[in-house]
Amino acid sequence: MVPEKMFQQLLVLGDGWRVQGVEYVEAESKVLIRIGETPALWRSEVCPHCHSKAVGGYDHAPERRWRHLNVCQLQSEIVCALPRGQCKECKQVYTARAPWEGRSRGLTQEFEAFALTLMREMPVKKAAEILDETDQKLWRALFAHVDAAWADLSWENVIWVGADEMNRKKGHNYLTVFADLQARRVLLAVEGKDAGTWARFAEELGRHNGHPKAITQVAIDMSPAYLKGVRKNFGNATISFDKFHVVSQVNAAVEEVRRQETRADAVARTQLAQTSWLWRKNPEAWTERQRERWEQLKDKPLVTGLAYAMRLELQRAYASASARVARSRFVKWCRWVQTEAAELSSGLLEPMRKAAAMVGRHLEGILGHWKEGLTTAFLEGLNSLFSATKRKARGYRSTEYQIAMLYFVAGKLEIPYYG
Ligand SMILES: [Zn+2]
Repeated sequence: MVPEKMFQQLLVLGDGWRVQGVEYVEAESKVLIRIGETPALWRSEVCPHCHSKAVGGYDHAPERRWRHLNVCQLQSEIVCALPRGQCKECKQVYTARAPWEGRSRGLTQEFEAFALTLMREMPVKKAAEILDETDQKLWRALFAHVDAAWADLSWENVIWVGADEMNRKKGHNYLTVFADLQARRVLLAVEGKDAGTWARFAEELGRHNGHPKAITQVAIDMSPAYLKGVRKNFGNATISFDKFHVVSQVNAAVEEVRRQETRADAVARTQLAQTSWLWRKNPEAWTERQRERWEQLKDKPLVTGLAYAMRLELQRAYASASARVARSRFVKWCRWVQTEAAELSSGLLEPMRKAAAMVGRHLEGILGHWKEGLTTAFLEGLNSLFSATKRKARGYRSTEYQIAMLYFVAGKLEIPYYG
């Protein structure tokens, strides 16, 4: 088979286009596939202005190239001077659309699809290296597909939403990420972590066939800004606080106790040296060496040890079989922490007292954990998703790159998207 005929079949061009020549250009180390239109093209063309089918050839636009899949490990490009047609009804002249053209200029659909497959598996920089293409070109393709697929999403079935912050650490801008907890997909990421982010989400819901009144469950951390935003924009939603955030706040309180005790007492300072990992983990996650360290510490009168025991007890309350049992355990826990804190004249348990007050204040939302079918596993998994996103977008600090990558990785979008 002659190469022209082979490429004609491989490219699935139809009657309107012909492969006119395939050549290897040594100076560029490239295979060029030259394509031109046939008279049959004008039988299927429709005027983009008045939709008349009475169109005929007019002239040709300047020659352009589209990067295509490699041929025998050589880069290949489609070369074509796109024909311009004129409408016999409205007399307007327009350029015919190339059926091989991808969403971003200068790439074929097949090349984009392959590049997107690579970008799913590795950082964009790496994919660009493999394809011998600029990373900016790959990002443009990614943006084009993500934007188009995301804009067409329907959120009409979304009723149960969770939100979390991305970029809690480091020098990045804060992002609030909204997720559909039933479909387990990221819906929206917006800059900021204030109440206004919820107004933005309500607005976007409207644009995607959803409605703020349809949202009946919202899972968030206990930040006052989020609470305010939900109450203001999602009046029908029951708010629940997920276990992950409750425990991590109490964990932060334990760490604060450790720091204060280290500062307050020379003996404690020696005992607590390099133990922050110990209090952060659960006992079953300790290594053998860490367990030995614990054996040395457990009988010392350390306030940090007491705070740690309080944290473990809170986690045990989460194992309760029902909301009723959980309620009494949480109430008991709060009372215990507050009594111990009041009795300790050094004030070292103050961070724990505050954590208990917070748990008491948000008890109804915390008990949302036991509601039928309510699991926030996806929300808890977001943090590992955030790291995966950052890994893939490594080297690109701007928020737009992070958001596009987040939708690409976790938005369950149909990509490549030509809809
Ligand atoms: Zn026309």
